[in-house]
Amino acid sequence: MRKGATMKNIVTDRHSQIQTFLWETHKDLCHWFDVWHVAKGIKKQLLALSKMAGCEAVLKWSPSITNHIYWSAASSKGNTEECRQKWMSIANHVVNVHEGHGDAFTACLCDELVEEREWLIKGSKAHKELLIIVNSKMLLKDIGNISPIQQTSSLEAYHKVELYFAPKASHFSHKTMKASFTFQCKLKKTASAKERWGATVAHLLPKREGW
Ligand SMILES: [Zn+2]
Repeated sequence: MRKGATMKNIVTDRHSQIQTFLWETHKDLCHWFDVWHVAKGIKKQLLALSKMAGCEAVLKWSPSITNHIYWSAASSKGNTEECRQKWMSIANHVVNVHEGHGDAFTACLCDELVEEREWLIKGSKAHKELLIIVNSKMLLKDIGNISPIQQTSSLEAYHKVELYFAPKASHFSHKTMKASFTFQCKLKKTASAKERWGATVAHLLPKREGW
C-alpha cells in the first residue's frame, strides 16, 4: 500500500482467521468478502445436494442459483438487507413464486426471463434441502458483506503467476528469483509467454527483453 494512504475497505475470502484478525486489530476497516469464494462454496453444496436421491433436479438449477449470488451482491451496492432478501428470493423463484420475498425486495425482476423451466415442487425434499443451503445462518450473516464491486481475482491471478516462478516449497533469494523468472520466460519463447501471460507479467519482465 502506498505510504500515507488510508485504507477504509478490504476484500478477502471468508477465511475465519482473516475475519478474526481484522476484527481484533482493524475494527475501523470495512471488511468485504470476495463473491467468487462465496459462490464457489454454494456451488459445491448444490452439487452435493444434486447427488442425493430425490434432489437430482437441483443440478439444473445450480448455475442460476450460483449466478444469483453475483447479481444479489452487485445490484444491492452494499445494502445488507436488500442483498440478503434478494438472495433468499431464489428459494421462491425455483418453485415458480416470484413475489412476496420481503419489504426490501418485493418481487423478482425476471418477467421476461420466466420461461417454462423444471420448477421444483414447494415442500419437496429437493426444495427443503435447498432451503437449508440458502438460509444457512453463516451465509446469511456474511452475505451482506459480499463486495459489490472490487474482488480479489486480479490479486489472485498475480499470485498465481508469482507461484509459477517461485513455488512456496522452495526458498529463492531475490537474485535467484530474477534469474529463474527471466530464464523461464526465455525458455517459453517471447511470443508464447506473452500470449500465455499477457499483460499480467509484461511489467515484471526486464525492459531490454522488449516487452
Ligand atoms: Zn422469479
